Amino acid sequence: MAKAGGERMLVSRIEEGTVIDHIPDWRADTVSRVLRLDKLARMQADISVVILQNVSSKGLGRKDIIKIDRWHVDERDADILCLVFPGITVNYIDEGKVSKYAPRVPDTIEGRLRCPELNCISNAEREPVTTRFVTLKKESVLQCQYCDALLGFEKVPDHVRT
Ligand SMILES: [Zn+2]
Repeated sequence: MAKAGGERMLVSRIEEGTVIDHIPDWRADTVSRVLRLDKLARMQADISVVILQNVSSKGLGRKDIIKIDRWHVDERDADILCLVFPGITVNYIDEGKVSKYAPRVPDTIEGRLRCPELNCISNAEREPVTTRFVTLKKESVLQCQYCDALLGFEKVPDHVRT
């Protein structure tokens, strides 16, 4: 079987779930971290995750693919991923039917990231508030609404709440 056919076969095998495609090669681990897939797998015992790395791709040369069986990645999480990897594509699969979701840079992000400023009220041990970042798209940074700390898009994977 041809390479492209082989890849298509792998992707189409999921009946229910999510396929994240066009991840830059060897960066699937970062996607996994942003989506907290290890935690998800502990909480939802019936999901399976398949990570394909260094797959040939027409547009990218090489790419990674993550398939998550029986789990739909939250669109807001897909949007956070696109801060780090603007080229990713997300396919949701229901009963074998694929629908594409094009992630887009969100205007605000609530609750999913930690503020890099340790003294921020959102990092308070007692009565912490929900984090809220506003996206400054031109500068490719997020700004904390409480303390104005800046977080570059590329640093987002290090600040995902666990
Ligand atoms: Zn802050």
